Amino acid sequence: MTRAVAVSLIVLMATSACLAGPDSRGSKTTAGGAMSSHSQSFNPYYSRTDARKLELPDDVWKKVLSPQLYSIARHGSTEAAFTGRYWDYEGKGSYYCAACGNPLFRSDAKFATTCGWPSFFETVRPGSVTYRKDTSFGMVRSEVLCGRCGAHLGHLFDDGPPPTGKRYCMNSVSLEFEPDEAGKH
Ligand SMILES: [Zn+2]
Repeated sequence: MTRAVAVSLIVLMATSACLAGPDSRGSKTTAGGAMSSHSQSFNPYYSRTDARKLELPDDVWKKVLSPQLYSIARHGSTEAAFTGRYWDYEGKGSYYCAACGNPLFRSDAKFATTCGWPSFFETVRPGSVTYRKDTSFGMVRSEVLCGRCGAHLGHLFDDGPPPTGKRYCMNSVSLEFEPDEAGKH
């Protein structure tokens, strides 16, 4: 029992270190934050059933999202590879937008990659995401945004596996995973 608690603490500390490491911009504001809490705990706009589009001012998003999620979702930053909680995660269930709860991907469409970010070959439905041309860093890429709230999720590439050949390369921070109920397939 005691050993299990100790191991849990070590894992928690290691996870916190990973999350805090690459996000130097957020270090000032995360000091008093609850690191383990999911974004929707403080976010009144989060809903997995309300499909209405969300158009909120930037300062509102800043208040309801964690600093790291705000930086990625509203300002397009990218988490460091291999630091997110889902890049090699294999649980069965659904992935939702961490900023607003919009259903985005099923675990059936997730595939193993070596890139260090969770990758999917298709969205759960056509309107789940929208796309925008991104010409930053001297590249032409297709930016992937949440279809409900417009949060930056990641980028779309054409080197994915069959049947679509697409690779939705996502930030773990932008996603919330919900496991399927036991016995339900
Ligand atoms: Zn969203």
